[in-house]
Amino acid sequence: MRHLRPSSSFKTPLETGCMTIHMTIHPTPDFIKAGAIAARVLSEVVKEVRPGVKVIRICQLAEHKIAEYGGKPAFPCNVSIDDEAAHYTSPHGDKKVFPDKGLVKVDLGAHVNGHLSDTAVTVDLDGSYEKFVIAAKIALEKAIEVIEPGVKLGEIGAVIEREIKKHGLRPVHQLSGHQLKPWTLHAGKTVPNVGMRRSERMNLGETFAIEPFSTDGNGTVKGSKDAYIFSNVMSSKKKLDRLSAQIRNIARRRFRTLPWAGRWLNDKKIDVTAALHSLLRAGAIRAYPVLLEGKGGMVAQFEHTVFVAEEGAIVTTLRNRQ
Ligand code: MN
Ligand code: MN
Repeated sequence: MRHLRPSSSFKTPLETGCMTIHMTIHPTPDFIKAGAIAARVLSEVVKEVRPGVKVIRICQLAEHKIAEYGGKPAFPCNVSIDDEAAHYTSPHGDKKVFPDKGLVKVDLGAHVNGHLSDTAVTVDLDGSYEKFVIAAKIALEKAIEVIEPGVKLGEIGAVIEREIKKHGLRPVHQLSGHQLKPWTLHAGKTVPNVGMRRSERMNLGETFAIEPFSTDGNGTVKGSKDAYIFSNVMSSKKKLDRLSAQIRNIARRRFRTLPWAGRWLNDKKIDVTAALHSLLRAGAIRAYPVLLEGKGGMVAQFEHTVFVAEEGAIVTTLRNRQ
């Protein structure tokens, strides 16, 4: 949006010589809406996270509410427990339930016409792991405080690392925040969770997801053999069997460049498991394996989506409470 000040008082062309033009950079309404939807859904679904509740109930509730409030899921709702750092979402018919104690990370996002949000909180099921939660939560708050146009990405990482170490824990250095662009969840720049000598900066008008992870492990992650989240490789033109080609086309049409859950396609009365395997082998889709902490450490995560404005970060995923 462009503001001209003053607007109507010019009589002659000469006077335009002293006109001041202010370019004010605003987040788009769709981007704001995507953030508000995710914030509301997250605060509502975390209330349902309790020992004995099925994980799939949380995934489906989140995805249902995102649609109800006028968005679409930006990616499958991730519900990762304990040493699962990220990328667990329920497969079709999942029987997994929340344990009596542990750390549950609920990570979800909405999109409105491709404008994205990405936000996460951690629930400590019985109060045994409070320091993990506090460390990641405060690290996120402190990181957001230092955001302004021109801030170095490495400095944000340093703030996160310092705060998490204060609590006697480590950041998960192999996971990082990321720039967001319409239809692209991980776009361009990454935001490290540890201090780095990097010259790359956040610029005015850019959007990022900031996501510190705290752990008592070694801060690395490894992919497990299980993957329930996929995305389309749009450039792939390989010849496929009929069912696989059909599944590929449906996924491209429905999800475009955004990640999706195998479960979302299994709603149909056909078993897509074999088709997903052949799509993976053909390079037509890629898989996001469940990421486990390298030493089996417990992991907590908090995440917000921010817009870099002149006055600092505008957090689009702020919740009313908590
Ligand atoms: Mn996330
Ligand atoms: Mn993210």
